[in-house]
Amino acid sequence: MVLKEHQNLEENGFPLEVGDLPVPRPKEDEILIKVSVCGVCHTELDEIEGRTPPSRFPIILGHQIVGRVEDAGRRARRFRKGERVGVAWINSACGTCVFCLEGKENLCDDFKATGRDADGGYAEYATVSEDFAYKIPEIFSDSEAAPLLCAGAIGYRSLRLSEITDGDNIGLVGFGASAHLVIQLLRHAYPNSNVFVFSRTERERDFARELGAFWAGDIGDESPEKLHAAIDTTPAWSPIVEALKNLRKGGRLVINAIRKEEKDKGSLLGLDYARHIWMEKEIKSVANITRRDVEQFLRSAAEIPIRPEIEEYRLEEANRALWELKQRRIRGAKVLRIE
Ligand SMILES: [Zn+2]
Ligand SMILES: [Zn+2]
Repeated sequence: MVLKEHQNLEENGFPLEVGDLPVPRPKEDEILIKVSVCGVCHTELDEIEGRTPPSRFPIILGHQIVGRVEDAGRRARRFRKGERVGVAWINSACGTCVFCLEGKENLCDDFKATGRDADGGYAEYATVSEDFAYKIPEIFSDSEAAPLLCAGAIGYRSLRLSEITDGDNIGLVGFGASAHLVIQLLRHAYPNSNVFVFSRTERERDFARELGAFWAGDIGDESPEKLHAAIDTTPAWSPIVEALKNLRKGGRLVINAIRKEEKDKGSLLGLDYARHIWMEKEIKSVANITRRDVEQFLRSAAEIPIRPEIEEYRLEEANRALWELKQRRIRGAKVLRIE
């Protein structure tokens, strides 16, 4: 499924077209993957609508790839043929800049993203440098593993950046693919912490309660207790303002979104310094992901084990999956089945 140019999804609900492309040939250090499934991420909407534009067209989207190694370049020896591997958002980084050397390859100036700067997994085949592929723990089916690669791994990074300790109150603002995995991680790693979930729909709030939320309310609600930290996964601005009011003194809001939509930006004018920001409250964004985040999260996810809730679509139904995501018709994570 190919994206040929930017599209406004409100005007064109079918931004991706079926295309017949040659099977890519792996370069020296690359593996060729026969794709089994690819997760659908909100970032694809940002790519289609131009908020984080692909570096070239046409492009194949998708950065939560699970498949099997079909072939390998001359110098690629890390995986056997037929071995199951995953590919995530980080497609490459320079490896030599100060950020890369400090283990912050997610901040590399030369950061390249799967499905944005290199063809991704909305396809039967994909190639990637073997250094940017991951072994998938056996406990997960292909479909279960896919959302762990972005929704899960970036959720894990967000949680790390929140710097909470066990017993702290934590808020999850928005309850989509990422939050439904993070809450499972939280319940395991921070058993004495109460999780407060903020969501626009009763369906998502019920789902959050099923997964162990201590409290679930609407985005604008006041939480019954103040929060040490909150993680925002929404595409909008007003949830930021609402979340800041619920933080305790010195609390931290982590924004896990690659871009925000322009629609409700005006709500930022409702920021009241005393109520929302003063008392040493902090805002921190999450940018991209490192290989270590993905590896560590996959390991934890298998130990717990995290149980992703999956909605499957056929590859040709990618447009429908994206449209439903745009309409926030979500329960858990959406996955395209390719073979
Ligand atoms: Zn993603
Ligand atoms: Zn670098």
